[in-house]
Amino acid sequence: MATDTVYSREDIKYMKAALKQAEKALAIGEVPIGAVIVENGRIIGRGYNRRNTDHTTLAHAEITAIRKANKKVGDWRLEGCTLYVTLEPCQMCAGALVQSRIDRVVIGAPSYKSGCGGTLLNILQNEEFNHQVEMETGVMQEECTAILQRFFKELRHRNKMRKKAAAQATAPDAADAPLYEDAAQATAPDASSDQSSFD
Ligand SMILES: [Zn+2]
Repeated sequence: MATDTVYSREDIKYMKAALKQAEKALAIGEVPIGAVIVENGRIIGRGYNRRNTDHTTLAHAEITAIRKANKKVGDWRLEGCTLYVTLEPCQMCAGALVQSRIDRVVIGAPSYKSGCGGTLLNILQNEEFNHQVEMETGVMQEECTAILQRFFKELRHRNKMRKKAAAQATAPDAADAPLYEDAAQATAPDASSDQSSFD
């Protein structure tokens, strides 16, 4: 298994910045995935998953980072740039990255549900397309995986407590109104729909 020591200090530094973005997603109850885009040693775009918050399929970390970097450079092309992302890009993001003509993509954890940087497909390096992306994988993989595991563990715990509270509320002689309210609050828009995937 690869360790951090084989990666450059620069790659570690910017993956840490991507993890910081993932923490922002975690703080608002979203699946914690973060990304940054770097050009000449400068971060020109940041993004984190906001799918549930913004109610849009498009609010993946990479798409937001691309949009911000495009705005910063005043060009749809991101030639000469590197994207750092905590989780392997999905088919949508990998496609957008190829379209952006970005030079390089650095990935933290693999995605077994939707990874298109080589796990399920390798859209980033498909020879049939007009652009291929240089790729590095496994940078700070442990940290990038740990934050996702923490999120899903807490989500499972919340769901379990919610079910327990709901069962108690509906049981005969236990129509405990405050308890039921707690159960309802627990269903507030978190990422309950994301239980089985973190693309
Ligand atoms: Zn994506």
